[in-house]
Amino acid sequence: MSATRGYFDHNATTPMTAAARAAWLETEERHWHNPSGLYREAGGAGRVLGDLRAELADRFGIDDPERVVFTSGATEANNAVVRHLAESVPGRIAIPEVEHPSVAVAVEGCFGKGRTCFLPVDWGTGAVDVAKLAEGISRGGIGAVSAMAANNETGALQPWREIAALCREARIPFHTDAAQWIGKMPLAGLGEVGYVTGSGHKFGGGKGVGFLILPEEEPGGPFHGFVGGPQEHGRRAGTENLPAIAAMVAALLERDDEALGVLAERQAPFRDAFEARIAEELGARVLAEKGPRLWNTSMFVLPHGKNVKWLARLSQRGFAVSTGSACSAGKGNPSAVMMAMGLDYEEMGRVLRVSGGAGTTEEEWSDLAGAVLGGLG
Ligand code: PMP
Repeated sequence: MSATRGYFDHNATTPMTAAARAAWLETEERHWHNPSGLYREAGGAGRVLGDLRAELADRFGIDDPERVVFTSGATEANNAVVRHLAESVPGRIAIPEVEHPSVAVAVEGCFGKGRTCFLPVDWGTGAVDVAKLAEGISRGGIGAVSAMAANNETGALQPWREIAALCREARIPFHTDAAQWIGKMPLAGLGEVGYVTGSGHKFGGGKGVGFLILPEEEPGGPFHGFVGGPQEHGRRAGTENLPAIAAMVAALLERDDEALGVLAERQAPFRDAFEARIAEELGARVLAEKGPRLWNTSMFVLPHGKNVKWLARLSQRGFAVSTGSACSAGKGNPSAVMMAMGLDYEEMGRVLRVSGGAGTTEEEWSDLAGAVLGGLG
């Protein structure tokens, strides 16, 4: 039995792929030296770092590898880009109400409520209204936009291409947190939108490593993440985690856009069949189902019972799922995403999120449906 059998929490994290693990080991064994050192071995590590940066840039269709800044993950990239925008653009930042806390809380701290324009999402699709955003931008006062590519809880896709085009026309910077998109969906177009966040452990590349792609032309001067040493061409101080970067890039290069398209087409029907069964036979209500979603994600409101009880029961039956929010984990904080999707407090306590992986089989999805239909008994 595979170690990931019954694992339906891929949006939280994924196991490292075999290629990523091999790249990690090889790099740690052969290139453990400091990539910034001046002796021969360090030069070797520095060259590997440069090659990895070029490979990642190439995968996004980016000519200048210096636009890629390696980070410790999506949280760092999101925090840093929000702070940079707050310091370098005039006016307010517009963000969807469903942003990940690593963007939303950073915006609250760096821009403050007075400089933030929250974009509501449609309760059926989970997506923002691009026409309304366009109106807001044309009225003036919006200095930047940050909108995630795909939502980690509902799987809803934001129209990031359209938003990026709007921002380009209005000459305002755009950032997209693509942590859940990258590794699941084709990357075409992402390299051109502006600032882009990615995270290794969401696509089999290992935890504690990620990246930020910078736009070709930066507003208000060059981006700086951590300050201190001159690493990352002066954009982010701190010794690079070379083995982790090698693992992440290896995982990213495993699938080209065509393969990702095929993956989505193969996998989505398994998730759809699961949803059809739990909706018809149990009366579960799927969130954001009226719009485009990630092929692997399903978030739904159960007809009765607390989600933590369902989670425990499913765990006993060999399935790892998520409640999708701190609220349901018993911390009492309402989930911003669920509030934005129109759920009341009582409903929020009945929500589960399941997220499969590239290797999740039709049988596993069907077994999960069976386990959910088995109820709380
Ligand atoms: N953004 C999104 C959309 C995410 O799903 C996550 C992880 N839950 C993060 C940011 C944070 O990523 P990391 O763990 O790499 O800091």
